[in-house]
Amino acid sequence: MDKDNRPRILIIEDEPDLRKTLKMNLKEQGYKVFTAADGQEGLEKARSKAPDLILLDLMLPGLDGLSLLRAVRQQSDVPVLVLTARTADMDKIIGLESGADDYITKPFSLGELLARVRALLRRARSHGVREVLSSGGLTLDLVSRRATLNGKELNLSPKEFSLLAELMRHEHAVLSRDLLLTRIWGYDFVGDSRTVDVHIRWLREKIETDPSRPMLIQTVRGIGYRFEGSPTTTTVVDEDEDE
Ligand code: CA
Repeated sequence: MDKDNRPRILIIEDEPDLRKTLKMNLKEQGYKVFTAADGQEGLEKARSKAPDLILLDLMLPGLDGLSLLRAVRQQSDVPVLVLTARTADMDKIIGLESGADDYITKPFSLGELLARVRALLRRARSHGVREVLSSGGLTLDLVSRRATLNGKELNLSPKEFSLLAELMRHEHAVLSRDLLLTRIWGYDFVGDSRTVDVHIRWLREKIETDPSRPMLIQTVRGIGYRFEGSPTTTTVVDEDEDE
């Protein structure tokens, strides 16, 4: 079974050599890496690949880095490390409104970059968790672990709650059964991915208007599940790491 619980990093960088170097080194460090060569692709993958961290170049063709960052921030608290050659932009970047968590000026050493990446991922794990998830009429309070659907309290088991929270946290992204199994049940769990299917079925009975035609938790055949609480224009189903 693929127990892929590696932290997921999305590199948005239009310089091919730098993109390749970053990707190679981050993979060597044990991260799962996705890449995008322009702003539009970057925004799509920020939504579809559910990254745990984004490395964002500011000067991008298509959609510039700061606009991309604003769009990402409307939906996600994912840590963003900005890569920039423009020292003149520092004030804008580190200003609170940009939404960047940290920045690094080109040229930088790989050692420094990796240290920043590790620090941001660590910080995100300890503090960066959103406390309330809300979409598609569902609201999950991650602190009290209470869930409501259109204002009505839902009676979810702890595993159902965690599963729904994981799907909602990565809305629009396809999460594989194995990824869900690892994240919700843990590495040590003895069982198989049908456990996920069973819990999804129970969840659907509680949250779907018609559980036989689910809208909120959609099945992506051969891969896993995707939460769709609000409409989107981009849907990327491939879960493969890109080359
Ligand atoms: Ca650039």
